[in-house]
Amino acid sequence: MTSQNKTVRLLSGEQIPALGQGTWEMGENSRVRGEEIKALQTGVDSGLTLIDTAEMYGDGDSEKLIAEALGDRREELFIVSKVYPHNGSETGVKAACERSLKRLQTDRIDLYLLHWRGGEDLEGVIAGFESLRAAGKIRHWGVSNFDTDDMIELFALENGNRCAANQILYNVARRGPEFDLLPWMRERSVPAMAYSPVDHLRLPNQSILNDIAAARGVSPMQIALAWVLRQPEVIAIPKASTVAHVIENAAARDITLSEEELSQIDAQFKPPKSKRSLEML
Ligand code: NAP
Repeated sequence: MTSQNKTVRLLSGEQIPALGQGTWEMGENSRVRGEEIKALQTGVDSGLTLIDTAEMYGDGDSEKLIAEALGDRREELFIVSKVYPHNGSETGVKAACERSLKRLQTDRIDLYLLHWRGGEDLEGVIAGFESLRAAGKIRHWGVSNFDTDDMIELFALENGNRCAANQILYNVARRGPEFDLLPWMRERSVPAMAYSPVDHLRLPNQSILNDIAAARGVSPMQIALAWVLRQPEVIAIPKASTVAHVIENAAARDITLSEEELSQIDAQFKPPKSKRSLEML
């Protein structure tokens, strides 16, 4: 298999794209709406059919943008959306899901996540997710920003092990999850969905990423993405609101970093030697 069509396997056996498109901060500004729509469409044309959104993003405007940009291509998409923890109860998640479905103009969300922990009733959330799944309104459910202790707590609850993915902050500059969270999830076949895979543009301006990129004639962002995608159970969801960035990101799937390049990256962006609490943006 070439990296172009790299996929990640869910516990159910379904294969989903390893590289998708984030949409945080999209759909909020009418001046750039046309370009954002083109960017999302270009991404789908390039196989970036996994689209990540949340009821939080633009207070629903990101979900509306997705409907406008990709409404006629629903069958090609794997849509991920997220529910606020303050809607985290059995009835709360059901009502929030209905609102998201309406904004997305679809009859189902492919993966529905609890956005972060914050006073939710976790048992109620699972019960709500399971009944949405039984009704066909969501196809899978999962969590976001769950550290190892949160995952252990989740898996101890009834049906908690039906969690299909955990969306977390993970990139070359934030490697904490490698110490315990990623291995814990790998053992249980729970894929990680790496958000902010280019660190929300906070990667250092000059680093080994630039040297490797220059030697290969690609961009440092592409090296950062290829680094996240090097692991079979990790999905990356960069947000790019321009066509040029989307095309560049899609091409990162063709880059396989060598052992030597990975060692050079380790020397500057060191893997964790002890537990670090999961960071969050
Ligand atoms: P990100 O994807 O690491 O970075 C986005 C920034 O990188 C944008 O400013 C974008 O610019 C720029 N960019 C993307 N590709 C580029 C390229 N090839 N060259 C140069 N610049 C490039 O950060 P993120 O948006 O925080 O994270 C990605 C997605 O993850 C979000 O959109 C959201 O869907 C999700 N997320 C989830 C959580 C959570 O709590 N679950 C938290 C944060 C994010 P342009 O827009 O100008 O193209």
